[in-house]
Amino acid sequence: MTGSLAIVGLGPGEARYLTPAAQAALDAASDLVGYGPYLDRIPARAGQTKHASDNRVEIDRARHALELAAAGKSVAVVSGGDPGVFAMAAAVFEALEAGEPGWRKLAITVEPGITAMLAAAAAAGAPLGGDFCAISLSDNLKPWEVVTARLEAVLRADFVVSLYNPISKARPWQLGKALELALSIRAPETPVIFARAIGRADEALRILSLAEALEAAGTADMATLVMIGASGTRLIARQGRAPLVYTPRSVTKSPCATSQGRT
Ligand code: SAH
Repeated sequence: MTGSLAIVGLGPGEARYLTPAAQAALDAASDLVGYGPYLDRIPARAGQTKHASDNRVEIDRARHALELAAAGKSVAVVSGGDPGVFAMAAAVFEALEAGEPGWRKLAITVEPGITAMLAAAAAAGAPLGGDFCAISLSDNLKPWEVVTARLEAVLRADFVVSLYNPISKARPWQLGKALELALSIRAPETPVIFARAIGRADEALRILSLAEALEAAGTADMATLVMIGASGTRLIARQGRAPLVYTPRSVTKSPCATSQGRT
């Protein structure tokens, strides 16, 4: 098989956040496959064909990309942020695992991108200085009980928690429930970051307390990443500038004692 498949991360927004390796993979492609708005971010090049699709049919899109590559095309499948974080790389591998045995002969590469969590962290300061994790609040692909069980475990273990897919029109209540759970385990003054459209022209960063974040849950949207601080996460206030949020790298007290103390 002469075709190839590159699974490419576009970063959080503007082209300056695209890595040179990702740009090279896009330039080398004869066919670009992805969710329409992501494909719109890539300037069209002569001779390249764009195959835009809907956001909710990842497996079909992955299969289509593999079929094109098997037919000899140089295909790039694009994702926002990093393609391996709640995105197309896993969908392509799921299709590969279940698909034509011949597809396994294809040259397949994954080009990393700056994921929303890292872009949001950099915009706020250094909230990921200690241990952290990421959870998608979407229950399209997993039961809500799994989401809450994982969230509770990491809140009790005192990780900084990044919430991807916090809310959508079809899922309006999950973020409120997640923040209620956080408030039952962490202090109300814990810093929470609402990072919206980071790396784009309409970027907006809000730094709230956990108690305020619960009140503001309805103001988050699909383009927002929500980050809940750990017990050590704090603010550095500055005159005339937004505070910096950071988590020290050292932990001096037992996080388990902290969380058990509050329940
Ligand atoms: N692969 C993507 C994540 C896909 S899940 C990545 O690595 O970033 C989609 C979720 O990512 C959104 O609901 C939102 O929570 C987050 N997200 C994506 N782009 C973002 C951005 N520019 N700013 C803030 N959050 C973003």
